[in-house]
Amino acid sequence: MKESNKIKTETHPCYSKSAHQYARMHIPVAEKCNISCNYCNRKYDCVHETRPGVTSKLLSPEEALARFKLVKSKVDRLQVVGVAGPGDALASFDSTKRSLSLIKNEDPDLTFCLSTNGLLLPKYQAELVELGISHVTITINAVEPKIGAQIYERVNYRGQTLSGETGAAVLLKNQLIGLKYLAEHGVICKVNIVLLKGINENHIEDIVKTVKQAGAYMTNIMPLIPVAGTPFADLPLTSKVELDYLRGKCEANLKQMYHCQQCRSDAVGCLSKDRSLEFKQEEEQLEA
Ligand code: SF4
Ligand code: SF4
Repeated sequence: MKESNKIKTETHPCYSKSAHQYARMHIPVAEKCNISCNYCNRKYDCVHETRPGVTSKLLSPEEALARFKLVKSKVDRLQVVGVAGPGDALASFDSTKRSLSLIKNEDPDLTFCLSTNGLLLPKYQAELVELGISHVTITINAVEPKIGAQIYERVNYRGQTLSGETGAAVLLKNQLIGLKYLAEHGVICKVNIVLLKGINENHIEDIVKTVKQAGAYMTNIMPLIPVAGTPFADLPLTSKVELDYLRGKCEANLKQMYHCQQCRSDAVGCLSKDRSLEFKQEEEQLEA
């Protein structure tokens, strides 16, 4: 690992548990998505839910810069700015790129990260490296198209809508190409895996082994948050004990994340305390 990325990793609260005193800020600028996961429901304007894909408001790049300036003036030890939805950072690449560039111009010493489903990594991987994104999260829920076909309803790629194993195979291929490229170019990659009981629970150790080989730095096995109205709304829940047992088994192969808060797309502050509402109210007062 490059020395500069080593320091950024040690002060990134998601990548190092001991960095809990540092704050991160998600800028909700990625509107679109190009796949359809059976557990996803992106609800905007929701202040009561805390889970990925939820934001109070979608921001333009200029609004994201304005929010960054406001947050920076009020939040101590703001270390990381990232794009984590509400859609996919690469499906909305123009917006992601412009937002991160504007903020980087303002504060080049920050750590920049994003999360993606990985479908468009082969297209944008070189630009991500050039942009100085040091940390990338890719969600990979299956490394066998047969299992992926049960998780992804559709994959929209190069103007085609692909479903079943065909779609899952294209997604997987691109995820692994991108992961390998980024890792080889010094980007620290985390792979998120959503544990889906009855679907991929017995496949997770294989995912961890595969992504380790492709260069992942760590994996983050997360419980499903079932959302009403989605095909996986009734899947059984996973307990923390079950989750930690599986993480412990996988730890023999690769570093595991145990402290993920499954944050909103507009989360602000330290991982233990989301301050996004506070800034929403402040922005509303400024606009009034
Ligand atoms: Fe939703 Fe993310 Fe899946 Fe897109 S990649 S459908 S935003 S969970
Ligand atoms: Fe970090 Fe998990 Fe929150 Fe992402 S969702 S910012 S990995 S704690």
